[in-house]
Amino acid sequence: MLNTDVKTLKNYVGGKWIEAKSDKTESVYNPATGEVIAEVPISSHEDIDHAVQVASEAFREWKEVPVPKRARILFKYQQLLVEHWDELAELITIENGKNMKEAKGEVQRGIENVEFAAGAPNLMMGEQLPSIASGLESGVYRYPIGVVGGITPFNFPMMVPCWMFPMAIATGNTFVLKPSERTPLLATRLAELLEESGLPDGVFNIVHGAHDVVNGLLDHKKVAAISFVGSQPVAEYVYKRGTQNLKRVQALAGAKNHSIVLSDANIDNASTQILNAAFGSAGERCMAASVVAVEESVANEFIDQLVQKANDITIGNGLDDGVFLGPLIREQHKERTLSYIETGEKEGAKLIRDGRTDGYAQEKGYFVGPTIFDNVTTSMKIWQDEIFAPVLSIVRVKDLNEAIDVTNHSPFANGSCLFTRDGGSVRQFRETIDAGMLGINIGVPAPMAFFPFSGWKDSFYGDLHANGKDGVEFYTRKKVITTRWV
Ligand code: NAD
Repeated sequence: MLNTDVKTLKNYVGGKWIEAKSDKTESVYNPATGEVIAEVPISSHEDIDHAVQVASEAFREWKEVPVPKRARILFKYQQLLVEHWDELAELITIENGKNMKEAKGEVQRGIENVEFAAGAPNLMMGEQLPSIASGLESGVYRYPIGVVGGITPFNFPMMVPCWMFPMAIATGNTFVLKPSERTPLLATRLAELLEESGLPDGVFNIVHGAHDVVNGLLDHKKVAAISFVGSQPVAEYVYKRGTQNLKRVQALAGAKNHSIVLSDANIDNASTQILNAAFGSAGERCMAASVVAVEESVANEFIDQLVQKANDITIGNGLDDGVFLGPLIREQHKERTLSYIETGEKEGAKLIRDGRTDGYAQEKGYFVGPTIFDNVTTSMKIWQDEIFAPVLSIVRVKDLNEAIDVTNHSPFANGSCLFTRDGGSVRQFRETIDAGMLGINIGVPAPMAFFPFSGWKDSFYGDLHANGKDGVEFYTRKKVITTRWV
């Protein structure tokens, strides 16, 4: 039922804030308090159809705007994002729950994407070969592709949209964003600041909603490409339906990231890094550490340090100073996490730290404390599934070969980290591990904007990843011209 005390968000189409035609809404909660902070419209096919139409008309003019002029708008946008850094971070904490330090870091990651996209004049350059045969030359020119649809998850309301629209519009496309219905507020600020930067109407649009809007984008004839980030089943669905409709699709999916700790590692560094990677952002990161394969000879020492550090974590509202671990996104997700903890116990894993008993777990927000299982095996659900919560599984292994076997057994292959001081082990890990983003002695190997976010296997569907040169390729198409000067 509609809560009349709170604002119902509007869609942003053609530079105007308009009410959705559909009167269906969903409540948006502050996950730290359980309070409703807004209502988000669950827009209809008609709403998305209108937005794509407007974006398609805007494309005709926007693609003709000289590339340096488009870049200048992004320079202005970058300045505005920097000026509004704290305000944006606070909004992220309120709607997502992560702590302010992490939220500020997320804003930084978003800004870095804008900075990278502002290099469009360089990135869009073609290539020439002045002599392909006697008197003949060839060159490649790069062009935008049209209307791009972006579908984003709840866990990075700023960074993930910024993986998409800055590069898409810098390269001359127009964009329709469907933000997560669970964290839709930040997107509205991104649009307001874009408008302030001087972006022409219709180049960037927002349609709030859920699967109807997604299907509307996937089926619309005037949408040329889809950038998706979210869970594995939805990514697979989006990739199949989008490509069946002959669209270019990049679909970044779920994960189950493994860290490997060898006996020669700096155990203090390994336990600190893995603690941050497992419990930072309440484990709601596609690059979260969710499994540690640790060599038996150092397992006890590593686990002792990890548990000690986990006991020192401050749980609470991410707006409060010193808080490290905030809430999960929704009550339903908390219930799902608690049921995984029960499953782990039933499967025979040893629960060595129980996040259900932390004081905050009883509060109104959706809190679960750091939870650690030892003696986990690959036959257990808690090893197989992406729990997306502060639940860490430890698998004891005899050596690096076994650790790599365990890791490669997972159908997911987003990130993987190795903790060691041995060069030979690093080389073996790099050459044989199934993962697209690797870290050595670090916990979260998330690449910067100028490198691709390159998940493998069931963590990614498509050819061209988000960010880096892949992003430029994804949002452009090429013409090759062959000329004889007569
Ligand atoms: P989600 O799949 O539930 O939602 C993602 C988007 O898809 C949302 O906009 C949502 O409205 C839409 N959606 C959900 N169900 C749908 C359906 N049945 N049909 C059509 N559209 C649907 O994901 P989430 O819970 O918001 O985000 C967390 C997931 O995202 C995790 O699995 C995480 O690993 C993944 N993720 C991956 C990356 C990456 O780079 N690989 C980055 C961030 C998050």
